[in-house]
Amino acid sequence: MVRAEGVHKSFGRLEVLKGIDLEVRQGEVMCVVGPSGSGKSTFLRCINHLEKINAGRLWVNGHLVGYRERGGRLYELRDREVAAQRREIGMVFQRFNLFPHKTVLENVMGAPVWVKKQPKDQVRERALALLDRVGLSEKARNYPAQLSGGQQQRVAIARALAMEPALMLFDEPTSALDPELVGEVLEVMKQLALDGMTMLVVTHEMGFAREVGDSLVFMDDGVVVERGAPREVLANPQNERTRNFLSKVL
Ligand code: ATP
Ligand code: MG
Repeated sequence: MVRAEGVHKSFGRLEVLKGIDLEVRQGEVMCVVGPSGSGKSTFLRCINHLEKINAGRLWVNGHLVGYRERGGRLYELRDREVAAQRREIGMVFQRFNLFPHKTVLENVMGAPVWVKKQPKDQVRERALALLDRVGLSEKARNYPAQLSGGQQQRVAIARALAMEPALMLFDEPTSALDPELVGEVLEVMKQLALDGMTMLVVTHEMGFAREVGDSLVFMDDGVVVERGAPREVLANPQNERTRNFLSKVL
């Protein structure tokens, strides 16, 4: 579902990704951990072409991200084609970024109606089903400000799912939440994983990684330092840097 080969990304002279090779299979939940500044968010942003990579290749759902290859050469895709690629990817950030002047239901319905031009009745029905799935049927008519942080983040997840993505990216979806609200968001993510969604999750929730993750990647200084089954990496990290990091967060 996701394949990265030798992905490099620099901002000016700062090299942030130094050759990432990685594969996420269909239905796999991959958790990514690593110190601040190691390039985790940048890598996620490269996957949906919010950042352009400087070298290497990225594929999502069989499509080369941002480019078309012809005769061994790469040609940049047009904005419209990039937008079409992004529609296959749902993204949930630390901050929920809901539209404050729209109701919960309108937030979830927005993209399928405006971007995909799908019929409103059909979208509304699906949006209500999604709100039910994240446990928020009761809040459909409320505005974001009337919801707790955990509820808002669940709306953000429902909103991403409304576009029927093939892949979901999560960038520290619970790190801005009060501790007592973290569990309800992780539970929604766990259900999503059980339903077979392919997920790439940057998180410091090691319990989630251990229980729900199929694989765990440890990133440091722009490279993948270690990768394996979460239980094995967490119980028996092979790399000094991984050991060092885990000793601080576990
Ligand atoms: P955190 O755990 O704190 O979220 P991270 O692993 O997600 O960290 P990134 O946000 O990917 O790290 O940042 C990696 C490095 O790239 C940092 O040094 C950051 O300052 C730098 N960086 C990220 N985005 C930009 C940008 N748009 N312009 C310049 N530098 C950037
Ligand atoms: Mg980050």
